Formats: sequence, structure tokens, C-alpha cells
Amino acid sequence: MTDWKPRTRAVHSGTRRSQYGEVSEAIFLTQGFVYDTAEAAAQRFEQLGDDEFIYARYGNPTVAMFEDRIASLEGAEAAFATASGMAAVSGALMSMLKAGDRVVSARALFGSCLYVLEEILGRYGVEIVLVDGTDLDAWARAITPETDVVFFESVSNPTLEVVDIEAVAKLAHAQNAKVVIDNVFASPVYSRAFEQGADVVVYSATKHIDGQGRAMGGVILGSEDYIRKTVEPYLKHTGPALSPFSAWIMLKGLETLDLRVRAQTATAEALANALTSHPKLVRTVYPGHPSHAQHELCIRQMGKGGTLIAIDLAGGQEAAFRFLNALQIGVISNNLGDAKSILTHPATTTHQRLPQEQKDLLGITPGLVRVSVGLEDAEDLIADMLQALDQV
Ligand SMILES: *Cc1c(COP(=O)(O)O)cnc(C)c1O
Repeated sequence: MTDWKPRTRAVHSGTRRSQYGEVSEAIFLTQGFVYDTAEAAAQRFEQLGDDEFIYARYGNPTVAMFEDRIASLEGAEAAFATASGMAAVSGALMSMLKAGDRVVSARALFGSCLYVLEEILGRYGVEIVLVDGTDLDAWARAITPETDVVFFESVSNPTLEVVDIEAVAKLAHAQNAKVVIDNVFASPVYSRAFEQGADVVVYSATKHIDGQGRAMGGVILGSEDYIRKTVEPYLKHTGPALSPFSAWIMLKGLETLDLRVRAQTATAEALANALTSHPKLVRTVYPGHPSHAQHELCIRQMGKGGTLIAIDLAGGQEAAFRFLNALQIGVISNNLGDAKSILTHPATTTHQRLPQEQKDLLGITPGLVRVSVGLEDAEDLIADMLQALDQV
């Protein structure tokens, strides 16, 4: 089983069959578990055996199947599933930090990640230092011996900057700091984060892992020691457990993840080629395209550019809105990783809260549109985008 390739793991790892021998994994929609005797209950509370459960806030067979399958896929010793991606990000960080600790993080982050760092951890006395994630000298200066955790999105939202996992992890480990990576944009398909030096990897399963826009979920991956001794006590007592029904959606999502993400990436490549140098655009940002400033790093780290593109319309917000409103296939929404192509105007939606100077610093311009490439026919999608640009 250890030498199974990812697509085999994505279909078979973690499977637990009931006495009925079902082919498709069962949904154990139960909060609790019955003990044969009072002694058995006492015994289980004293020492949880393999594949034993007490209460669904602590663990559940369907949730465990999802955790084991994604841990196998990601090359992690263990995983703990959560009710959303943000429960995973905040759980990973809150469980390992205390007042007086220091976190160094890339500045280009999903809005809620920034809120957890600056507003919540800040309030609890954790020092937060933000750096330009693409600048290794800035990382080197900020990661002092007092640093406890280094945090970043390996590919940032929405401007698609790539952080060099191997180089930053080297700097962090030299100071005994742990590396926590929000790896949503890479997805498990293009992730070798543990090999490259990550200590903890976090996913929002809401995105590519579900992949059909149905359920919220998240997962924290790491060493057996970290998950069992640091994460589990925090999550089981604070309660952001993944529902068994949502875990089942994510588990089945993993089976087709590789096929979906590779198909979406192939379309993203074709779309980036079709849009690069378009006269209505100031820039097309796609890490998988040679024009991206970190193209080489992206290919070395991930192999491919992933499923997201950002375009910047020359006519600013008015042009961006006109373009979005003219689309016939892509939908205007703020999720990503879906079978449907989804387009977002970050400056007025996901990143609206940021002050203008921060938007400027992050390159979130009025004309910027984030494109999450779906599973539609690539030619149809490209034709739709080009006709919408014609109407600008
Ligand atoms: C969506 C997202 C999250 C949060 O995930 P939810 O499932 O929406 O809570 C965190 N980080 C990144 C990079 C994301 O794209």
C-alpha cells in the first residue's frame, strides 16, 4: 500500500467496510456509539483502540475515512478534518501558539487568514510580522530566533504569487520555527509540500476537494505527534468537527480530484495562452505561463500552474464589471475549484475590507478579476471570455 501511486490512494486509501461489504463508502450519520457493556465504555474512555470512536466531535468512521485518505494522498502521517477551511487554518495556528509567540507570515493572504492572524492571534498576544512572500531576503530578515511559526499560502489569493516552500522552510527550520502552509491553490494534486519542508499543511476542502460547490470542509495534516497531541485536544474541545455527511462528499471528491484538477489545469493553460497580450488586458497572471515572474519556481515546486488565473482589465472596475456581466458560461461568485468556472472581482468582494494602500501593496487593482477554471469545454470557455472582453 505504501507504494501505491496517488490515483490509487485517492480511490482506496482509508476505506472502512461495514459488515455489509458495501462498495461505496457508508455515511455513518451518527453522533455517538454504543458500548456492549459499561466496562467497555470505561475502557474506551481510558484508552481509545484502533478504529474505535466515542463521539462525533472527536471522530467518526466516515470522517476517519476522509482523514486517512487525504493523509495518504498528501504523504502526511495524520490528519484532522474540520467544518471549514478557516476552522482548519485557525485550528492549526491556535492549537500551536500562545501569548508572546512570534509568527512570520506572507502578506498576500486570503482575507479571513489575515483576520485570524492580525485580529485574533494579535488580541491573544501573538506577534505577527508580515513580509512579501516572494522576497527571500525579507523572509530571512523576519525569521529571527524568536520565531515560532512561519505561515503562508503556497500560491496566494488572488494575485497568484508563488512562495518557495523549500527555501522558506530552510530559513524557518534553521531557527526551529514550524512551517504551516495553506495549500488550497496548489491542491493535493500539485502538492509535494511535506517533501519540500512543510511541517503542517492545511486545506479548505470546500474548494477542489469537493469540487462541485456543495459542502464546506477543511483538514489539517501533519505528523502523528502534532495531530494527536496538539491539534486533536484543541479541536475536540472547541468543536469545529466536520459533519459525517460532508466528510462523505469530500471522501468521494478525492476519488475524482486528480482527473478534475488536471482537466481544469489544461483548460487554464489554454485560457492563459488565449488571454495573454489581449489588448483589453493590462496583464494576465498565471503561474503556469512563461510570462509569470515565478514560472520556473512554480513548475519546479508544483509541476503545473493550477486551476486559477487572474486578469487585469485596462479599463479598471467599470471594464471588469462590464466583462463579468457579459459572460454566458462563467458565473459571478466567490468560491473556487468548482466544476463551474467562477469569476470574482476581489477589490469589491473578497478583499473589499482591505484599506486601499494594502490593496495597492497586494496588486488588487480595480481591474483585477480572478478566474477559477471549471470543467466546461475549453473552447467554449475561451470563446465566452473573448466575447465578453469584446463587449468592454
Ligand atoms: C477558501 C479559502 C480558505 C477558507 O476556506 P473555507 O472552507 O471557505 O473556510 C482558506 N484559505 C484559502 C487560500 C482559501 O482559498
